[in-house]
Amino acid sequence: MYNDITIIGAGPAGMSAAVYAARAGCSVALIEETVPGGQIVTTNEVNNYLGFINIDATELALKMAEHVSSFGIDIKYESVKSIDVSGEIKKVFTKKNIYESKVVIIAAGVKRRMLDVEGEMKFRGRGVSYCAVCDGMFFKDKTAAVVGGGFTAIEDAMYLSNICKKVYLIHRRNEFRAEGTIIEQLKNYNNIELVMNSVVTSIDGDKKFDAIMVNNERQIELDCVFVAIGMEPSAQFITSDIHCDENNYILTDENMMTNINGVFAAGDIRKSNLKQIITAASDGAIAGTKAAKYVKE
Ligand code: NAP
Repeated sequence: MYNDITIIGAGPAGMSAAVYAARAGCSVALIEETVPGGQIVTTNEVNNYLGFINIDATELALKMAEHVSSFGIDIKYESVKSIDVSGEIKKVFTKKNIYESKVVIIAAGVKRRMLDVEGEMKFRGRGVSYCAVCDGMFFKDKTAAVVGGGFTAIEDAMYLSNICKKVYLIHRRNEFRAEGTIIEQLKNYNNIELVMNSVVTSIDGDKKFDAIMVNNERQIELDCVFVAIGMEPSAQFITSDIHCDENNYILTDENMMTNINGVFAAGDIRKSNLKQIITAASDGAIAGTKAAKYVKE
């Protein structure tokens, strides 16, 4: 099917790009693998998004999706397998369809980094999770661990402490990467045990996940482990002709255009200094506007 613009990813960047492009008179295909909202839906509550001191994360994501739909755009729930951006007409391949367009905006965001230890793949989705908000309720009154020392890991540990009987927070150094009052707040959570200077060396179990090993010497019995060790771009379909930095974040100019004419990138997947909902929405606004201009030229 042909549209002026194909947008990959319905997070704040992709949805903002869709609104701006549609408002500028372009036809848009917006493709999303899971649910609209991107990283928003991996958290409970969003704080300090301009105009909302606090807002429920799902509510904000749904408001954005409603905004998109008010322009007559139906989000296509499909997984992008590959892209071909070599010609003037770009192609985006999903399992079911080929989307053709003059412009592609890549706004596929980021995904949680994996630990890359023995047992992780075996128990992924069966005790090993990358999203506390999505999967935490499956482990009510159970024993959990969170791995990581950034804001996400600490927030996840606090969130799980209200659901689980006990939560181990496991970090590889003796200082957290996250700073500020959140560290002080941790002291108020009696069921969170800090396990510092500890590296997870394996994820163990026979048929069922039951423990992790840290530093090759201490076994901690668990029902679930949540990995929160940072993010990496969702770049599996990005071809080598699109320039990226050493960590696979896409490089763009100030118009969000990549090194390939007609291919734009916006939001967390783009190399940038600040990754917030507001900066993703801003990237999307620029990409949508410039993409529409490109289509008309
Ligand atoms: P992050 O800040 O990059 O922290 C990643 C943590 O994982 C670090 O503590 C790091 O350890 C650890 N780590 C990395 N690779 C590891 C490995 N292979 N094994 C064990 N540990 C490993 O990531 P994040 O917490 O996801 O946060 C991402 C960004 O979002 C940050 O800028 C953060 O400030 C922001 N954020 C903000 C909020 C908020 O403001 N409320 C909430 C969530 C996220 P080292 O410290 O030793 O490097």
